Amino acid sequence: PSTSHRSYTITLLPGDGIGPEVVSVAKDVLTLAGSLEGIKYDFKEMLIGGAALDTAGVPLPDETLSVAKESDAVLLGAIGGYKWDQNEKRLKPETGLLQLRQGLTVFANLRPATVFPQLVDASPLKKEIVEGVDIMVVRELTGGIYFGFPRGYGVNQHGERIGYNTEVYSALEVDRIAEVAFKIAQKRGGKLCSVDKANVLEASMFWRKRVLEKAKEYPDVELSHMYVDNASMQLIRYPKQFDTIVTNNIFGDILSDEASMITGSIGMLPSASLGNSGPGLFEPIHGSAPDIAGQDKANPCATVLSAAMLLRYGLGEDKAAERIDKAVEDTLNRGFRTADIYSTGTNQKLVGCKQLGEEILKSVESNV
Ligand code: ATP
Ligand code: MG
Repeated sequence: PSTSHRSYTITLLPGDGIGPEVVSVAKDVLTLAGSLEGIKYDFKEMLIGGAALDTAGVPLPDETLSVAKESDAVLLGAIGGYKWDQNEKRLKPETGLLQLRQGLTVFANLRPATVFPQLVDASPLKKEIVEGVDIMVVRELTGGIYFGFPRGYGVNQHGERIGYNTEVYSALEVDRIAEVAFKIAQKRGGKLCSVDKANVLEASMFWRKRVLEKAKEYPDVELSHMYVDNASMQLIRYPKQFDTIVTNNIFGDILSDEASMITGSIGMLPSASLGNSGPGLFEPIHGSAPDIAGQDKANPCATVLSAAMLLRYGLGEDKAAERIDKAVEDTLNRGFRTADIYSTGTNQKLVGCKQLGEEILKSVESNV
């Protein structure tokens, strides 16, 4: 990016449930942090999920996808809710999200698990174990056993009925996810752990060899390898040993959920999905939380921190991203909490979604 007045088009997809509430806060924070760094945005708000089903009859209207594809980054709230739970697959809100990911060809899913010092008590693990945990799980999103062929149902040589799937990775698929992961590790703590099952699976041994090959281009990153069974144990035993983790689709699905639960604060966790070129998709890891939707109770931090990832990993605007990360920390330090992260009997201040957003804006403004 050049020095002054960079301008970006951002597609906003508020979606359903608490989505509109949290995206509205994130938009304001993005705008303020950007303006302090000479960034301007052209926001395009579009329909997705249940909201799109109700007005356009499909979970991802063509217009939403084309606008998203032409923008510089996409910020999504959440989709789904009780209202559409009985719909057939084609007409489920969640189908819209799968179609969006496919349409944007994002193959790398980034999920940080950061334990905020102010929220260590939210973790189900002991304070000594989780203090200082800051892990980034990089999951391959479009290959592996979820998509490999052959797959299906059939009959084996003994005449028994079977179900089967296939783990397949091409060199191109491993190389590109490894590249993303090495670059992220470089920006972070300089350590990358590749998780596989190379002692049992050929697809994993292939993965490991390609990652080792890619490592030659990144001599400044310290690479290690770990079997997935051990990794799932180490994440609980001593999570601080990890900086950046890279793994395949299925292991990443499981390990990213495990890593996020170490923090115990679902309302604080952002995510990013990136491709080679074209816009990335940024969204909180939580769902639409229909139980609290429309009540101004949602924690907007996960979406605000997704906006920070949008700046850092989507636009390369690290300084504006840093402003947002710091503002969220400062707001926590000043004691403001939504209900999901509030503990009674302390001098914390219980606030709603909107007010927490206003406090974050104040923190951005005061430039701590
Ligand atoms: P998904 O849509 O991914 O299937 P889910 O329906 O399993 O998700 P969520 O919608 O994430 O789950 O909600 C799980 C619980 O966490 C609910 O009780 C919800 O109220 C709470 N929750 C989720 N996100 C937030 C948030 N941002 N702030 C406060 N509470 C939240
Ligand atoms: Mg849900």
